[in-house]
Amino acid sequence: MNTRSRSAVFLLSLAIIAFSIPFGIADDLAGRNALAKNVILLIGDGMGFPQLTLARIDKAGENLSEYASVELFMDRMEQSGYVSTFSANSFVTDSAPASTAMATGHKTNNGVISQDETAIPKEMDGKNLTTILEMAENAGLSTGLITTTRITHATPAAFYAHVDNRDNESEIADQLSKSNVEVILGGGLQYFVGKNETDPTGKEGKRNDDRNLLADFESQGYALVYNGSAFQKIDANKTEKLLGLFESSHMQYELERSSSQEMDPSLAEMTKKATAILSKNARGFFLMVEGGRIDHAGHERNLSKIAVDTLAFDEAVREALDFASKNNDTLVVVTADHECGGLVLQPMDLEVYEEGSIDPIFASGTARTSGPRYDFITEMDEATHTAVDVPVMASGPGAEKVSHGKLDNTQIFEIMKEALGF
Ligand SMILES: [Zn+2]
Repeated sequence: MNTRSRSAVFLLSLAIIAFSIPFGIADDLAGRNALAKNVILLIGDGMGFPQLTLARIDKAGENLSEYASVELFMDRMEQSGYVSTFSANSFVTDSAPASTAMATGHKTNNGVISQDETAIPKEMDGKNLTTILEMAENAGLSTGLITTTRITHATPAAFYAHVDNRDNESEIADQLSKSNVEVILGGGLQYFVGKNETDPTGKEGKRNDDRNLLADFESQGYALVYNGSAFQKIDANKTEKLLGLFESSHMQYELERSSSQEMDPSLAEMTKKATAILSKNARGFFLMVEGGRIDHAGHERNLSKIAVDTLAFDEAVREALDFASKNNDTLVVVTADHECGGLVLQPMDLEVYEEGSIDPIFASGTARTSGPRYDFITEMDEATHTAVDVPVMASGPGAEKVSHGKLDNTQIFEIMKEALGF
């Protein structure tokens, strides 16, 4: 190109930029009719309304006069509502179809990861569904996934993998290694080394083959970190791709993490680092952050762990909102895949209750009563997921859609897709 045509191109670009300014984000992002440049979706696994109440009670130190004024960061978001969670084949979903619904806008069967409802769990593949993360990658945005569970666990998996069986974590890890997701943080090293190898934490590999995926990630230019101190040393300005896996299986519960010698990063620290890396992309980013072990604490019926992991998740929400507050170009959505455990915050003792006590207990009772339409049976040994609606909160451009009464989990996908202009 000669000097004259080069300066003509330069002037033309200036004119295009000047022309796009009045239209805001939309025309900045070449062809995308976007409301938001970035979307951060935070999912509290197993976090229903009672889990939020419990977290507030804990934050208030179980002090009623404190409780009157205590708030979670997610309580302060601009919009809020509630979401139905049923799957294609059950009133009670598990994380696989619930996360699939949010990632793709489609209902599927329990146990199925981002394939449609023609999939027969553990038997036959269905049709692959395109996820919001894949749309973001195709549009040139950066993407990130953070969880406190194994990164191959159902909730994060539904954003990048397509399998008929959520337990096929070797295959899910394979698919992650081909996904181009720029920032990957969580647990689950056991599915990234061969079956006869030990992973970087010294534990046995759990893959069904001999492949070492860590080598694959390294050859794709990822920075690899396996502990908190290496993670803290990562310079976001100099890092384009990051794989941080800190445990062989799930990351620790917050109660254990915060008291352990060599601390893994917290969910909030991982969120902060991820936004610093991903926001270098001028086209924007999509980031999913999962507080994955609120659910496990629910299965265990462990009140303390539910409360503390929910509060740790809320700290990650604070990081996301802090990031979003810097420019008004980020949609932040907070929700859950389902409630877990049927958490009941009932008084410990009826007599003491009548005198004014509030000690909550975690129980689904032991009563069995029959009714004309439904039997009320609460004798199950293990607490599990429930069919109740879950909370949703949102702030930023595109958040208004969240306040229209009950949403279905598939609409979370639509809201994010519309915000990003896909
Ligand atoms: Zn669960």
